[in-house]
Amino acid sequence: MPRTHSNKEDQCSFCGRPRSAVKVLFSGADGSFICDECAERAHEIVEEQFHAASTQYDLDLNKLPKPKEIKSFLDQYVIGQDEVKRQLSVAVYNHYKRLLQKKTDDDVEIEKSNIILVGPTGTGKTLLARTIAKQLHVPFTIVDATVLTQAGYVGEDIESLLTRLLQETDYDVKAAEKGIVFIDEIDKIARKGDNPSITRDVSGEGVQQGLLKLLEGSVVNVPPQGGRKHPEQRMIPVNTQNILFICGGAFDGIERKIAARLNTQTVGYASGKNTRRVDRGNLLQYVAPQDLKSFGLIPEIIGRLPIITHLDPLDKAALRRILTEPRNAIVKQYQKLFEMDRVQLEFADDALDAIVDKAVEYKLGARGLRSLAEAVMADYMFEIPSQPVDKVVITAQDVLTHLDRFEKTVID
Ligand code: ADP
Repeated sequence: MPRTHSNKEDQCSFCGRPRSAVKVLFSGADGSFICDECAERAHEIVEEQFHAASTQYDLDLNKLPKPKEIKSFLDQYVIGQDEVKRQLSVAVYNHYKRLLQKKTDDDVEIEKSNIILVGPTGTGKTLLARTIAKQLHVPFTIVDATVLTQAGYVGEDIESLLTRLLQETDYDVKAAEKGIVFIDEIDKIARKGDNPSITRDVSGEGVQQGLLKLLEGSVVNVPPQGGRKHPEQRMIPVNTQNILFICGGAFDGIERKIAARLNTQTVGYASGKNTRRVDRGNLLQYVAPQDLKSFGLIPEIIGRLPIITHLDPLDKAALRRILTEPRNAIVKQYQKLFEMDRVQLEFADDALDAIVDKAVEYKLGARGLRSLAEAVMADYMFEIPSQPVDKVVITAQDVLTHLDRFEKTVID
């Protein structure tokens, strides 16, 4: 077959103008072209789209919820933990203010106050973070510090903690730079043992030094897809100066450090009138920067987390409230499920007590309430929809009978 040759001049695939009528004509794959003007127009559209994305986070102090309003919102979902709620509410509100601060001559620069939450596992740290996110006017993400140390040397790069924030904003860097990042399980990067080790300490100090860079505010290169840096991956520079960091951790065993410190202090004051009565049942309430240091956080990190707050252990009364009071309480969820079959579901008071007692007995805490309730309700959810009943009342005896089986599986 003879080769055909067209004399037709190349032209822009978008506006149709020929090469001779434009300044530059870029050629693409499979014979397409774009001229300089169309490329520029495309760039403008992309810019507009990005701007539209970031304006969804436009801040106006008059319209933003005040600390008290933020707290009452948290109250609807999280039981107790008043101190943390207050501190978080203020921190978030101050974060907005800082972002809105205009540069003036007096230039009192409001510095950010990153927060650290210390509390036993299952007391509501992540729940608080998730709940506050629902009401935020800035981008927010929850990341887990354990990915940094997982599998020793092949842990992820510290900068990857910001990848999720970028994804949250569709890679709108300006918006991400005003965001809030909740770093869960921060205690997992504590140095093991009090001695700075001579051998390479993967899970400890190196990671903390890296984290310090993020906390203190600097421009870091974030891998767009997370994970480790690959030379072929184009990094996105992100300035962390205005990103608020909230860290949370269980700090298992920190009570011993607190007790040791309080003991040495009381020795000094033993005869004085100033000796405070120490509530040994809840030592976390006394947590102070030096305890975090004894636990293995480096002083520079602690210095960048000026607000230290604690979560209270959940007692029986709190667990009982968690079953019924939050807006999406477990009991309310089952009632909703049954309501859809036009069946009214009730739990007798002692039935709820029995569930709570089991959660305490098995040391499952609030996290266990759900699986216990599920074990109780499984048979009912299977049977009731096929039965001609319009009301079910769960008694303590029902709870115990059904948990018998649960108990066996737990023990097995
Ligand atoms: P952690 O402190 O380990 O981050 P979570 O916030 O993940 O604990 O809590 C686990 C689950 O327990 C939550 O999803 C929630 O159902 C329940 N829970 C824990 N603490 C509370 C609380 N204070 N109020 C209401 N529910 C809670």
